[in-house]
Amino acid sequence: MRFCPRCATKLESKPIEQREYLFCPACDYVHWNNPIPAAGCLVENGGHVLLIRRKASPHAGAWSLPVGFVQFGETAEQAAVREVAEETGLCVEATALNGTYNDIIDGERSHLVLIFRGHILSGELRASDDAQEVAWFSENDLPPLAFASAKSAVDVWRAERNGPPTAYYYCPRCRSRLGRRKIGEREHPACPTCDWIHWINPIPVAETIVTNNEGQVLLIKRKLPPRVGDWALPGGHLDWGESSETAAIREVREETGLEVRLTRLLCTMGLPSLLNPEQCLLKSIFVGEIAGGKLQAGDDALEARFFAWENLPENLATESTREALRRWRAGE
Ligand SMILES: [Zn+2]
Ligand SMILES: [Zn+2]
Repeated sequence: MRFCPRCATKLESKPIEQREYLFCPACDYVHWNNPIPAAGCLVENGGHVLLIRRKASPHAGAWSLPVGFVQFGETAEQAAVREVAEETGLCVEATALNGTYNDIIDGERSHLVLIFRGHILSGELRASDDAQEVAWFSENDLPPLAFASAKSAVDVWRAERNGPPTAYYYCPRCRSRLGRRKIGEREHPACPTCDWIHWINPIPVAETIVTNNEGQVLLIKRKLPPRVGDWALPGGHLDWGESSETAAIREVREETGLEVRLTRLLCTMGLPSLLNPEQCLLKSIFVGEIAGGKLQAGDDALEARFFAWENLPENLATESTREALRRWRAGE
């Protein structure tokens, strides 16, 4: 900008509150050069992010997120959804705000960029007027991105994808980005807006030490992670509405084909999940005897068989299994 848009006088520069602004010496017009709002979406699909190759300058030919200027009267969400539709053919819903960013263009214009997470509702992928190409890119194989805003938004997305599997980043009640709050000894994910707290309660698990007439112990060879191929007590997560006893009996039936009668609760244990150190399990370990059925490994076990105490396998799945067997053997 060189001339006053009001009276066409040549603009001059003057400092106002520590910044230089163009102003008109004739009519006192000041060019505040406010940031220009732009909006777009980071659309994810199974570890892939949707990128467009730009047709227009700046950065023509470079890859970026689908983003464009907010039009007169639009909300940022409306603009973000419209831009995705125009540039990629996909109809999305703007869910959470991924973040707000600022791109400085040619050292003289500032774009305030609001990037939302976009959830695909319908449509078919196709490059449109504003994009040379649209494509999905794996998080491990991204091209160089135009604009600092796109780089930062993608970095946020990748950090969240690679966090612990149960980590929460957005409030499930109000969509705000979660912070952390220390309560007692532990930090909990917590919502700064609506005060929702993710308590990360322990997940209840039931396991059973089942013995046969010879006093041998029933173990199953794990088919599912963690510790595939290691030996464990038959057991698993409680289903909705189940008691620990009901779950223990059901798991033995599903994994080994045997019906058991529980004789007592040996102990309970609190321990971190092997799949996710942020998550804690509460194990109830029962002792049971065979009441019927026929030994046969179920769908989620590779093998089910009895072991004499002297011949227990080396590769027990967890220390808690070993500890439970030790307590049972000691007559606790
Ligand atoms: Zn003027
Ligand atoms: Zn909230």
